[in-house]
Amino acid sequence: MSLFDSQDPLDDEPTKACRSCGAPIKWIRTQDKDKPAPVDAKPIRLYQTTSVRSQGTPVAKIVRAWMPHFATCPDAAEFRRV
Ligand SMILES: [Zn+2]
Repeated sequence: MSLFDSQDPLDDEPTKACRSCGAPIKWIRTQDKDKPAPVDAKPIRLYQTTSVRSQGTPVAKIVRAWMPHFATCPDAAEFRRV
């Protein structure tokens, strides 16, 4: 299964440039506060554990996810105040 097999609602959203570092980002809104948040434009692969175990070890599925740009922006401290 390739990283890009599944469709994601963010795929077709426009890529913008971070106002601090210029990196490509996209915008989402967080579910808890409905607050806009920048994420890195390129998705990453993460493992999400399931309730299944195999040979005693928890089995994980691969999920496609978006890294908050606050985590990767070299100017994150400045960014947060904006
Ligand atoms: Zn940035």
